[in-house]
Amino acid sequence: MGATRQVIDEVMEQVVKRNPNEPEFHQAVLEVLESLEPAIERHPEFVEAGILHRIVEPDRQVIFRVPWVDDQGRVQVNRGFRVQFNNAIGPYKGGLRFHPSVNLSIIKFLAFEQIFKNSLTGLPIGGGKGGSDFDPKGKSEGEIMRFCQSFMTELYRHIGADVDVPAGDIGVGSREIGYLYGQYKRITNLYQGVLTGKGLTYGGSLVRTEATGYGLLYFLEEMLKDHGQTLAGKTVIISGSGNVAIYAAEKARQLGARVIAMSDSSGYIVDPDGIKLETVKQIKEVERKRIKTYVEHHPSARYYEGSKGIWSVKCDIALPCATQNEIDEESARMLVANGVMAVAEGANMPSTPEAIKVFRDNKVLFGPAKAANAGGVATSALEMSQNSMRYSWTFEEVDARLRGIMAAIYRQVSQTAREYGYEGDLVVGANIAGFLKVARAMMAQGV
Ligand code: GLU
Repeated sequence: MGATRQVIDEVMEQVVKRNPNEPEFHQAVLEVLESLEPAIERHPEFVEAGILHRIVEPDRQVIFRVPWVDDQGRVQVNRGFRVQFNNAIGPYKGGLRFHPSVNLSIIKFLAFEQIFKNSLTGLPIGGGKGGSDFDPKGKSEGEIMRFCQSFMTELYRHIGADVDVPAGDIGVGSREIGYLYGQYKRITNLYQGVLTGKGLTYGGSLVRTEATGYGLLYFLEEMLKDHGQTLAGKTVIISGSGNVAIYAAEKARQLGARVIAMSDSSGYIVDPDGIKLETVKQIKEVERKRIKTYVEHHPSARYYEGSKGIWSVKCDIALPCATQNEIDEESARMLVANGVMAVAEGANMPSTPEAIKVFRDNKVLFGPAKAANAGGVATSALEMSQNSMRYSWTFEEVDARLRGIMAAIYRQVSQTAREYGYEGDLVVGANIAGFLKVARAMMAQGV
């Protein structure tokens, strides 16, 4: 066994030992470490400086109690998290996720991924993530507000415009950011860009809402272009129907593709004529109902129980935009059997390692989340810039910057893959390119 492989195994062993019962975190770390092998071979100085051992250990992780009172007057208690993983290249930056599945393992995997994703944007942002096991489903407006206020009553002391800047993720959209921001301001009396994804009347940036989905499509467009293809006339399936999925679908349609299936955690809809996005937006953003109500508006569409079935729908392009590990080996095989040509990840870590292997073995173009969904956080960084300037750019200006950033990420990732002998493997390219910048900054700043 080579010396590099030995170091990687040793670091991985330590991660597993130090962080028992954190399978998602182990998965995210292993995926990165394995693909760093060629970079470590070329840069032994990183091993000498202990970079690998240091980069897998968060700077700090905060776990806190979030008590709140429900509409029946009962006291409820949830758990809050903020993991500040790495600030070598800028303040910690990353979303907040409110979902019953949230635990330390999930927040740590997300925070770890965020380090490399944020590095790829080329903007000065470090990696962090937070959230709670609070389930926003079925909660009243008042309950959501009281929960957000209680969450911020603890979180405020750990964040700051130059320290750590949270944003949204699953279960946290502009409504929640508004309540969180209001509480931060009430406690600190500071009016600053401490959160991104804010409303447009109080410091938010145009395009932030659309950014992850639009960015995903800009990345996909570059990836296809590099292989002599375009989106025109392609059939697309998109899992999820939240913020990422909706704006991915909108941009896919604008670029000439036909989105024929979308889903939520209960099931999926297929509309061969093309999904009517206005209906999905109304159902999901306004009425906050299940995707199955789509068929009441469009009887020609079909609804099927079970979200996983979406991967059996024949398509040219699949965009997983729901959650982690939603495409397993079997789903990947189904996609390949049906002739999928490209997969780009809108969600974080939506493909299992086995699924990625299936795509790799079958020469499916594959855009990993760290690169493909970086448009959201990149636009968050643009929101921070505008807040610092006390200024705001037009929609066209922000959109043009986002497009430029996504094209630059694609170039950087594909060039890095080639440079390290893995031409076409964007997983390796993204991990190495993201890592090198952070590792060099850590080296320069000493132990
Ligand atoms: N939650 C998003 C992500 O996974 C955005 C984070 C942000 O804007 O800070 O990248």
